[in-house]
Parts: sequence; C-alpha cells; structure tokens
Amino acid sequence: MDAQIRNIVIVGGGTSGWMTAAGLSRVLGTQNYTITLVESEEIGTVGVGEATIPMIRMYNDLLGFDEDEFVRQTNASFKLGIEFVNWRRVGHTYFHPFGTIGVDTDGVPFTHFWQRLLALGGSDDYTRFNLESQAARQGLMGRLTDGNPIKLNYAFHFDAALYAGFLRRYSEARGVVRKEGKIVKVNQDPQGGHLTSVALEDGRLIAGDLFIDCSGFRGLLIEQTLKAGYEDWSAWLPCNRAAAVPTERARLADGSDAPTTPFTRSTAQEAGWQWRIPLQHRTGNGYVFCNEYVSEDEAIGKLLGRLDGKPLKDPKILRFVTGHRRKMWDKNVIALGLASGFLEPLESTSIHLVQVGLAKLLTYFPKRGITPAIARRYNDEMLAEYVNVKDFLIAHYHVTERDDTPFWRYCKNMSIPDSLKSRLDLFAATGQAAVLPTELFKEQSWFSVLVGQGVLPRDYHPVADAVSEDEVRLRGSRMQAAIQARIKPLVSHDAFIARHCAAAAM
Ligand SMILES: Cc1cc2nc3c(=O)[nH]c(=O)nc-3n(C[C@H](O)[C@H](O)[C@H](O)COP(=O)(O)OP(=O)(O)OC[C@H]3O[C@@H](n4cnc5c(N)ncnc54)[C@H](O)[C@@H]3O)c2cc1C
Repeated sequence: MDAQIRNIVIVGGGTSGWMTAAGLSRVLGTQNYTITLVESEEIGTVGVGEATIPMIRMYNDLLGFDEDEFVRQTNASFKLGIEFVNWRRVGHTYFHPFGTIGVDTDGVPFTHFWQRLLALGGSDDYTRFNLESQAARQGLMGRLTDGNPIKLNYAFHFDAALYAGFLRRYSEARGVVRKEGKIVKVNQDPQGGHLTSVALEDGRLIAGDLFIDCSGFRGLLIEQTLKAGYEDWSAWLPCNRAAAVPTERARLADGSDAPTTPFTRSTAQEAGWQWRIPLQHRTGNGYVFCNEYVSEDEAIGKLLGRLDGKPLKDPKILRFVTGHRRKMWDKNVIALGLASGFLEPLESTSIHLVQVGLAKLLTYFPKRGITPAIARRYNDEMLAEYVNVKDFLIAHYHVTERDDTPFWRYCKNMSIPDSLKSRLDLFAATGQAAVLPTELFKEQSWFSVLVGQGVLPRDYHPVADAVSEDEVRLRGSRMQAAIQARIKPLVSHDAFIARHCAAAAM
C-alpha cells in the first residue's frame, strides 16, 4: 500500500455517506482524487437523525452553505438546547442549553458564583444566567451577529433525508460520482487483506485505494469483511430499540399551528425516553426503550398514545446495540456513522461523531500508503470521543431520584465506569467536572445535566468567596440584566423562519 491514494470509495448514501462525500470533495477536491459513492435505494437509509448540536454549523460553514438556504431545503428549525422532562423525577423539568452560563471570572466558571448566590438565598434557577434558556422558554430566535460577546448559540432540527439530498447535490456538483446498486461481494488483497474493490449485484466492479464504510449498522466493510469486533456498552446504556413516527404539526385548540419550539424535548418514560423534534412542516417523535422492560408492540402503543399531532406514517422500529467497533480504522477501511458504532440519540451526538471522524480522517489523510501508526492514532482519538459521550449519557440515567419502574431501578443501581464515577464524586464535592479541552461536553453541560438531575455540589471554588456578598449579588443581577437586554432584538421562532428561511409548502 505504498502507492499514492487516488480512488476513494464511499459505501453508503445515508447522512454519513453524503457528509463524507461533501467534506472530501470540498477539502481534497476531485482533481487529484476520484471519489465514488455507492448506495442502494433498495436497502435504504435509517432516515432518522434530526437533532444536532452547534458544531454542525462549522461543517456547514466549511462547505460554504448559505444557512438560510440550508434551513429552507432541509425543512429545518432552530435548536437552543434540550428540555428534559421527568428525568430527575416525574413532574420535574430542566433545560440543558447551548451557550454559556454567566461569565467566568479569573478562569472560574460562573456556576461557582451561582452556588454562592444560592447559599446566600438566591434562586436555584441557573437558566436565568443563560441566554439560550431564556430565548427557548419564550420561543424566540435571532442571529445576534453584532459585536456583543453574549451571542445566541444554536443548532438545527432537520429532515435527515433532505439533508442527505442537499449534500448529494453539493457533492455531485463537485465531481463525486454516485453509483446505484447493491454490493454483494467485497474483494481483498490476498496478502495483506486490504480491500481492492466492491462488486455490485449487476456485476459492476468498483475498485478503490481507500474505502469509507458508511453502510450503517451492518458495517459491511469494517465488520462483515474485516471483523473489527464490537464493544458492547448496553450494560450502561440498556436502551436497544426505538419506535419512531412523524406527526403533523401540533395544533392549538382553535386549530391554528402551535408555535415551533426552538428546542428538542426528551421525556423520560417507564423504560426509556421519548423525543419530540419539531421541523417546519412536521414533528419527529420516537420512544427509545429497552426491550427487556417493554415489548416492541407495547412501546409503539405507548408512543402513539403520547403524541401531540396526527401520525403521518405507521411507526417503525429500529434495533441497535449501544457501543462501538473495536477498530474504526482497519487496513484501508475507515468506518463512519452507524457503521462505526452507536450512542443513542439522547444528546444528538451521532451526526456530530460523523463530523468528528471526517475531520480526523482529513487531519491524518494518508497521501501515500497507510501506516498502522495513522490507524492507531485515529482509533485512539475516536475512542476517546465515544467514551466521553458515553459517560455523559450514562449520567442522565444513573443520577436520578426515579425508582418507580424496574428500568429506572436498574439504571439508578447499575455500576458505572470508573471515569464517570470519579467525575461524579468530584462534581458532588467541588462543583467541578474536570473537563479536558478535547472533550465535547464542557463544564456548563455537565453542570446543567448534573444539577438538573438533582446533584447540588457540596462546595464551590474559593474565588467565588473573594468578593463581598453585595458584590456577588450585584454581579448576578447585572448578568441577568445583560441577558434580558440581549433577548430584546429576538423575534418568535416562527416569525424568524418565515422572514428568513421558510421551506416551500409540502
Ligand atoms: C433511533 C435513532 C435516532 C437517531 N436520532 C439522531 C439524532 O437526533 N441526531 C443525530 O445526530 N443522530 C441521530 N441518529 C443517528 C443518525 O440517524 C445516523 O447517525 C445517521 O443517519 C447516519 O446514518 P448512516 O449514514 O451511518 O447509516 P444509514 O442511514 O443506515 O445509511 C447506510 C447506507 O448504506 C447503504 N448500504 C448498506 N448496505 C449496502 C450494500 N450492500 N450495498 C450498497 N449500499 C449499501 C444504504 O443503502 C444506505 O445508503 C439516530 C439514530 C437512530 C437509530
């Protein structure tokens, strides 16, 4: 494998396949590389995956998308965070917002000052110091592109199939060649086992130097051919099914459209949780559950009974095992998306992990030859990404007061990874989550979720005691006033969409 890499073959045309095609054609170009994407309409795509996190804007910016056009074409709405209902206990709600909570002082997060304010008798509502929470609560949106450091941080809810189509048009315009057909055979070099070509049902052969496996849960190249192995994390994240159904937009009592909420809602249920993701013309819904505690038929029944709009299709069941491939890069195959592993969609991280994998592939892109060192480095970095997200997700289930069903009793009492245990102990004692700069979820995210789930740290950083009581109160009220001032130029989410980026009527 010392020859120059020229032919890149992407297997799969779901979100990850087309994200990869668009990214590679944008960065590497198609002058020096042939980029071919193979997909099978007969097999189809997973087709869910509608909520994202703000980093997706970096990917869209890299491709040079006009944001309004992207929102219009993908039927998207804006997302300012996630509302968690019934997670700490039934009847309790908290918000995990994007953006910052207050302003740090001398490198110490504002959350420590919030703790001091709380000890002085202040409100326990930390979202008063976060712009996204305030805007979400009032259903507001705006881009706030002036020089003021308090900005509105946002992501999107979008139609995954429309996004893949949007990326396909972009990629094909840049020279990516799409081949329709079902791969029935994968050919390997008999010496080293590197892949040489894939064969389609109709006999066509597609040769390549580098293969990107975006074939979904089946992992056609990485698992079925190279037997990379799968690390199963379902003892910590036991949900293994989702029932999904889109509904018409919710309506108010007078028959008019209910406002499009600029946030995802996650409602904990008896054996998992239910998502609600509003797009412009419909709402995505799904019940993520563990089939040891509720059957597929029961789960569908529960989901259909808890919708706020009329179903547009029959519900479909998706089956998965949470975990990851032991090697995500093996020989000349790199797995991205569902082919590389799956962490359930509680914090909308799957599409982000595709983006991260693609960015790392580009960082270490092998011009000539693939050395084991590159693959090792890639695998180590991707594993760290997965582990970090995994621990954050487990915390949502484990740190809870709920013990009302066998599922919640299991989650509350299960043993957890040491890395999470030590972080939870540290946070409970000091209010610090000790987040490394490379981690996706920052201090503010851990703070929102852990406090939301019911952990009030026993202490806070001494810097928060370095100012007088009057001064700390004054800072708190100034910060709230600054956030309220930033709310003023925002408009309703629906008005914002109508003004800038309404999708064509469907
Ligand atoms: C229940 C659920 C909810 C989710 N929610 C979110 C969310 O809110 N946010 C988020 O970021 N992510 C979410 N995800 C993840 C998200 O859906 C996926 O990460 C994303 O869609 C990428 O999927 P994929 O492209 O890897 O695989 P797929 O969509 O499965 O695509 C696989 C592709 O491979 C092709 N293929 C397979 N075998 C062959 C063959 N033999 N020959 C030719 N072609 C073949 C298929 O035709 C298809 O084009 C969710 C996933 C699930 C299961």
